[in-house]
Amino acid sequence: MEKKEMLQILETDDFGFIDSIFQSAYETKLEYTGNKVYFRGIIEFSNLCTKDCFYCGIRKSNVSLKRFSMTQDEIIEAALFADKSGYGSIVLQSGERTDEEFVSFIEQLIETIKQRTNNRLGITLSLGEQAADIFKRWHSAGAHRYLLRIETSNKKLYEHLHPDDHSYDKRLNCLDVLRDIGYQVGTGVMIGLPYQTNDDLANDILFFEKHDIDMIGMGPYIVHNDTPLAKSVTFDPQKNFLLGLKMIALARLHLKDINIASTTALQALDARGREEGLKAGANIIMPNITPVKYRNFYRLYEGKPCLDENASLCQSCLDERIQSIGEKIGYSQWGDSPHFFKRTGKMPKTD
Ligand code: SAM
Ligand code: SF4
Repeated sequence: MEKKEMLQILETDDFGFIDSIFQSAYETKLEYTGNKVYFRGIIEFSNLCTKDCFYCGIRKSNVSLKRFSMTQDEIIEAALFADKSGYGSIVLQSGERTDEEFVSFIEQLIETIKQRTNNRLGITLSLGEQAADIFKRWHSAGAHRYLLRIETSNKKLYEHLHPDDHSYDKRLNCLDVLRDIGYQVGTGVMIGLPYQTNDDLANDILFFEKHDIDMIGMGPYIVHNDTPLAKSVTFDPQKNFLLGLKMIALARLHLKDINIASTTALQALDARGREEGLKAGANIIMPNITPVKYRNFYRLYEGKPCLDENASLCQSCLDERIQSIGEKIGYSQWGDSPHFFKRTGKMPKTD
C-alpha cells in the first residue's frame, strides 16, 4: 500500500468507503490467518512502576493510587483458569521494574506456569524495557512472545509524551534485542494522541513493516484525568475509536500475515469495540483474567471496561460476541503469528 492511500483512508469520513476498507481488511485476515480468533488471557498483576509516562494512569507520580502486586499463587491460579478455559495463552503485564527481585519473581513464575500446564499455555510478556540478559532469562524460562509498544514512531512526539530520562532509542533497541533472542516480537502505538497527525499514523504502519514486527497491539489513546497529558488536550473519543479501527485495517492490508489484537481500549470507547476490531481485520482478543479485586487499581485510562466482571462472566459474554460475528475461537491453541514462522523458517507448534 502506498502511504498516499493510507492517508486517504485515515482522512476520509465517507462511511461507504470506510466500510469497504474494513471489508477488504477482513478478507485479507481470512486469507492470511484464517477465520479463528485466538485468546490471550491478560493478567495485569502489578501496578508498581518506576516510570512516569505522561499519559498513563499508573505512572509513578500518581500518588492517588493504591499500589498492589499479586502473589505467585494468585497469578498461577489465574493462569490455571486460562488453561482450564481453553485460552491457549496468557499475557503477563505490569508496570516496569528491573530490580533482581522482580526479575527472578517473573523467571520463577514462567517456569512454574509452564510446568503446571505441561507447556500447554503460551506466555507473552509485557513488562517494559529490560536489559538483554533479562530478556534472555525470561525467554529461557519459557516465555516466547514479548509486547513492547513503541507508543509512537515519531521520536519528537515520543519525547513530548515522556520525561527526559525515558529514551525512544532505548525502546527501539529493545525490539531488535527481543528479535535476536528469538521472541515473537509485538509492538504498537496509541492512536489519537495529542499532537499526533495522520502522517504520523501512516508512518507507524511503515515502522511496523521496517522492523519486521510479528504482532501488533495498538489502540486508541484514552485520557486519564490524573495525568499531565489530560491537561493539554480536548479528548475526542469517537474520533479516536474510528481511527483505531482504521489503523487495524491498514495494518492488516499492508502487513497481511501478522497477528493483530483488538484491544480493550476499543471496548472502553464502544461496547462492541472489540468485535468491530475483529471485523476490521484483527484476530486476537485479550480477555482480562485479573482478579476483580485488583482491577480498579490498574486503570490506565478513564472508563476501562469489565472492572467488576469476573473472568468466567467475561468468558461466556465473549464467546457469544465472537460467534455473533461469524468467527470461530481457537480454543487451547497458541495461534502464533504466521509472519514469525515465515521470517524464521521455524515450524508452528502443533496444538
Ligand atoms: N509498563 C509496560 C510498558 O509500558 O510497556 C507494560 C504496561 S503499560 C500499562 C501497557 C500499555 O498501556 C502501554 O504500552 C501504553 O500504550 C498503554 N497505555 C498507557 N496509558 C494509556 C492511555 N491513557 N490510553 C491508552 N493506552 C494507554
Ligand atoms: Fe509504567 Fe508502562 Fe504506564 Fe509507562 S505505560 S507509566 S512504563 S505502566
